Amino acid sequence: MTEKEYDYIIIGAGISGCTIAHELKKHTDSILLIDKNIDVAQGASGAAGAFLSPLLGKANKFKDLVTDALKYSTQFYLDNTSEYIDKCGTVRIPKDQKDQEKFDSYIEHMDFEYTAKDGGYFFENASVVDGYNICKTLIKDIQTQFNFDVHTIKYKNNVWHINNQIIAKKLILTTGANTKLIDEKYFNIRAVWGQRIVVETTSCINVNYHKECSVSRSIKNNKNTYTLSIGATHHRLVEGNEIHKDDTNIPKMTKELCTQCSNVCISADDTKNLIKKAKDITELEDIKVINELAGARACSVDYFPIVGELIDSKKTIEEFPYLVNGTNVQDERFSKFDNLYVINGVGGRGYVLAPYLAKQLSQYIIKDEKLYDIITPNRLFKRWVKKARKS
Ligand SMILES: Cc1cc2nc3c(=O)[nH]c(=O)nc-3n(C[C@H](O)[C@H](O)[C@H](O)COP(=O)(O)OP(=O)(O)OC[C@H]3O[C@@H](n4cnc5c(N)ncnc54)[C@H](O)[C@@H]3O)c2cc1C
Repeated sequence: MTEKEYDYIIIGAGISGCTIAHELKKHTDSILLIDKNIDVAQGASGAAGAFLSPLLGKANKFKDLVTDALKYSTQFYLDNTSEYIDKCGTVRIPKDQKDQEKFDSYIEHMDFEYTAKDGGYFFENASVVDGYNICKTLIKDIQTQFNFDVHTIKYKNNVWHINNQIIAKKLILTTGANTKLIDEKYFNIRAVWGQRIVVETTSCINVNYHKECSVSRSIKNNKNTYTLSIGATHHRLVEGNEIHKDDTNIPKMTKELCTQCSNVCISADDTKNLIKKAKDITELEDIKVINELAGARACSVDYFPIVGELIDSKKTIEEFPYLVNGTNVQDERFSKFDNLYVINGVGGRGYVLAPYLAKQLSQYIIKDEKLYDIITPNRLFKRWVKKARKS
């Protein structure tokens, strides 16, 4: 059987995969978006509360990146998926006196306009998006292959062979916390699990809030009740207590599915705590939990996203053995896997970062425009070599 060939294959139909597919579609129709689940946004992208809110703090490279991404991505959603972004603003409330002092020290570094509200700072430009419908809209004209678990990718005769069934001239991996296709030690992703709940209440909330958790603006149902979302928890997995890599994308983990996964799952305690924290923010009457969702955030070791071509560490070290002794080699000379790209490590801000990063990556692929050093895999490779040298 001959393998079908595409210009681009993208593996992973979360917000990272859907945004890069959308960007590349401007240049070719020959794109296939693959996911092992039954639909888009079934990993972290389905669990996310999907708030777009500024990062507060003193100026640094990460904050600058988030600020640029937030401005870009908000406009991107308004332009491309306007029905699914609710630009209702977010009130950020300090947790305690110490947090209040921290907030006060951030005032001179605020990148966005704010006003005082409900004991916190109201950012009018912040929003919340409907992640599932955004992903769905972005890929509406793109060919998809769901229920397709990719277990092998091989580069042969200048093309990528996916499960020996489909061929891509260029391959893009947007697999989130599931990194089993990337056999590189420097590509170190930590899964940080989180839970979010959707509740029905008789209380009406007009803006998003963030204090110890986030509460979204409510949407009116019939019968004078409202639906809103409360999230999220953070569970860092400690070594020796890890979920198998393949378990990281169990779709919308239900209690039944949780029994199949080793450690972290939807927890009744988390649900209780989220409700308690939400009630500390605003009055919420007659709460009924109608959905509980969990997913794994893919976090890099330095919290920056990972975008660009993957470095072939074995080949690079063979070519430059003195790298391990500390001799400097220019990044441009590192050996890259041909036509293989990633967007990963978007952590707890995937909805803020993905559209911006997808734009950067597409311009890199199509126009050869340089990527910011702080987001390429180069830094991770260099860090790994340095660590290996010390040990
Ligand atoms: C509880 C929670 C709350 C969050 N809240 C926010 C928020 O308020 N704002 C915000 O910006 N971000 C938030 N995030 C983070 C955000 O959800 C993520 O950063 C983002 O969704 C990551 O998108 P992704 O496309 O990179 O990964 P994912 O959405 O995880 O997508 C990866 C996809 O790859 C597929 N896949 C993996 N391996 C394979 C394979 N071998 N073959 C085929 N398919 C494969 C998976 O099935 C999955 O669909 C939250 C996350 C969680 C868990």
